[in-house]
Amino acid sequence: MLDHILHRRLQTLASVLVLFLVAISGWQLLHRSSAIPSEFYPYLYSLPPEMVVKAQTEGRKLGSEGWAALLAIRSTLPESEEGLIMQLRKGRSFQDLDWGGIRPEQVKLAQDRRSLLLKYPYFEPNRFTFPVRGKYWYEDSFGADREGGKRKHEGTDLFGAEGTPLISVSAGKVEQLGWNRLGGERVGVRGDDGNYYYYAHLQMISPQLKKGRRVEKGEAIGMMGHSGDALTTPDHLHFGIELPNGTWINPYPLLKVWERQAANAKDVANRV
Ligand SMILES: [Zn+2]
Repeated sequence: MLDHILHRRLQTLASVLVLFLVAISGWQLLHRSSAIPSEFYPYLYSLPPEMVVKAQTEGRKLGSEGWAALLAIRSTLPESEEGLIMQLRKGRSFQDLDWGGIRPEQVKLAQDRRSLLLKYPYFEPNRFTFPVRGKYWYEDSFGADREGGKRKHEGTDLFGAEGTPLISVSAGKVEQLGWNRLGGERVGVRGDDGNYYYYAHLQMISPQLKKGRRVEKGEAIGMMGHSGDALTTPDHLHFGIELPNGTWINPYPLLKVWERQAANAKDVANRV
């Protein structure tokens, strides 16, 4: 009898333990899926713009996700890319590729990279464009000291003439608009991808923009200027990208790709 009670108690204890473990791993799984793997942005930034644009162009023939497959294969398995890409061209899907003798960890890396490129589609064809219409120059100044080292530069400055037209890099919703101390006349767009796209120091904000209103990719944001803390600096657009978790990422490597895409699109338009 005592044995029986003890047995029941142990069983209950075991069930509670199992439930507890299931709950913990479920919680971890949820959190892991929402966190961006730390190696993703270094990987994204390592992709040469020529490679990205080439994958976008050639990927068109391989379906809507072809660009991501080409990029992941070329950047991960350059020594085997010919055979793999040939299979894609013959109509085989990425999931059904014959990886031959490629090491499983390398295959997994290529698969993971493709998934991340699709999940965070900065390089999806026609999804983004370059924010400046007209003459400009820019360099990578992300992380540079500002206000004597009190803060870091959290974006890219694109210099040009006052009044140069500025456009939205992506579709989204106007979240902030108007004056603030540092940004001057500034516009913040919540992109459809969840990121916050920030345009500062404008001379003038486009009058049709309203808080809460949708904007399309390529729609006018305003004109380049030197408002806010750019009062004494040459005219420029400060462009920033903030992730939903509050981290500002370096827009420079992304701008390099979007710039090339926009130039190609113009090429096509001119040729037609
Ligand atoms: Zn700036």
